[in-house]
Amino acid sequence: MTTIYDIDAIEQLRSRNAVQPHRMKLFRNALFKNSSDWNEALAVLPESARADFDRSITFQCLELAERHDSEIDAASKLIFKTHDGHLIESVVLRPKTGRTSICISSQVGCACYCSFCATGKMGFTRNLTTAEILDQITQANRMVKPEGRSIRNVVFMGMGEPLLNTEQVYRALDLMMDPKLYDLAGSRITVSTVGIPNAMEDFTSAYPSVHLALSLHSADQEVRQRMMQQARVYPLEQIHETLLAASKHGKVMIEYLMLDGVNDRPADLQALENYLRDVPVHINLIPFNEYAGSNLRGTPQPQREAFANHLKAAGFDVTLRYSMGSDIEAACGQLVQHKRKG
Ligand code: SF4
Repeated sequence: MTTIYDIDAIEQLRSRNAVQPHRMKLFRNALFKNSSDWNEALAVLPESARADFDRSITFQCLELAERHDSEIDAASKLIFKTHDGHLIESVVLRPKTGRTSICISSQVGCACYCSFCATGKMGFTRNLTTAEILDQITQANRMVKPEGRSIRNVVFMGMGEPLLNTEQVYRALDLMMDPKLYDLAGSRITVSTVGIPNAMEDFTSAYPSVHLALSLHSADQEVRQRMMQQARVYPLEQIHETLLAASKHGKVMIEYLMLDGVNDRPADLQALENYLRDVPVHINLIPFNEYAGSNLRGTPQPQREAFANHLKAAGFDVTLRYSMGSDIEAACGQLVQHKRKG
């Protein structure tokens, strides 16, 4: 299947049809910068080339199966079906202040089995291809275009562990940052990982301008192991070394999901402070979207605020995130899990 993301195959088509480079530029701009539909994009090509392009290229590699728009905030959850029948999720966020963002998936399911995560309960099916990763952004761009918006931030925090699918994710990053395609600055992209030291080092060397986010969730080895299976393989001590090295390229984002009675106690706060004291980081405190099938509860807001204030007083950059899309089950994997059961 040749998709619009297969740059080499499209170049061959261009050559076969003797399309002038400036017409190809218009074609690429129509697809990736103007979020045009397929017929609009074809219309910028010479008439003699359109039929061959239309026959040879698959415009969309994912089928939009469902769209859920939040009634309490501006989030939209998109469920896509792959060509082999798997479901993946993306979430479009339209914060009141700030840019339109998308949280995208990198795998079908996940092999990391984090205890708090709905995707982790599904197990791993397969890696997404570069085209499947990028199509989430392209289709979201077409969806928000009538609102006068375009996707300006991309975060790999959907289904899957991106650093366990580096071949496809790296190719997707190259195309996202390619000035001829999406032309996104690296600083507008975040790759979030459970913490795989070797892969984190390779990533920061290859993509120093792209943000790295570590899903830390606890600075206590025992607590972290209960929350995240990968913590048994990669202990906090080893990850600390990697964080120090990674922070040479800029502040590392620390994701900290706040779970009532699990990682929000005074001892957890102290452990977090001690662990990050010497690393330039930005800490995001994330509320937990509760879901059926999990007996975990999110930390109540007043305690989350107190936790954040304490960290700020200790000198950390902290963002206290508010739940977006809680009415559309925006926690990653929730809707797909429901559909699989249904
Ligand atoms: S939190 Fe991320 S890494 Fe952990 S199971 Fe869920 S998708 Fe996988």
